[in-house]
Amino acid sequence: MLLGVPEGPPALSGVFVGLGANLGDREATLRSALHAIGQLPGTRVERVSPLYGSAPVDAGGPDYRNAVAELATTLTPQALLQALQIIEQSAGRERPYRNAPRTLDLDILWFGDQVIDTPELVVPHPRMMERAFVLRPLADLVPQRVDASALSKVADQSIEPLQGPGWVAGV
Ligand code: AMP
Repeated sequence: MLLGVPEGPPALSGVFVGLGANLGDREATLRSALHAIGQLPGTRVERVSPLYGSAPVDAGGPDYRNAVAELATTLTPQALLQALQIIEQSAGRERPYRNAPRTLDLDILWFGDQVIDTPELVVPHPRMMERAFVLRPLADLVPQRVDASALSKVADQSIEPLQGPGWVAGV
């Protein structure tokens, strides 16, 4: 309690979200998504990885821009997923077919150490260990949690760092 204002539940840290965009102004889309995430109730963007460029996996279209953000949030995993889906939709995302190019893709990678397996939400994200565009930025943020053998398994995927962690400011 501070000056008579009741505190809400403590924010859970160690929530990691993967961001990707491969249509439109990709970098601007990721920046505004990070700002929108930082405006969610009870949510703070704690750190953002460098910005990467990656070739699409199992899909066509332009190269992706990718990053990973670490959040602290009082939202439940389900509420965070719903909020991320609204941010995706407001970026104009359509899903005409699986792996179609997308304006914005937001995935919950880890939610603290929670393990979730429901029809709408699976955490840890089931495909994150197969994807260089998740593992490389994640390894920048938490190198102790991404081991060298995981990175070597995705070493054949085309990905390059484009800008350091300062590419997004003030989130
Ligand atoms: P995608 O088209 O790859 O963005 O997949 C979106 C679908 O994946 C949505 O229907 C979500 O309910 C589901 N989903 C399952 N687990 C997750 C997760 N960890 N993060 C984001 N979406 C998820």
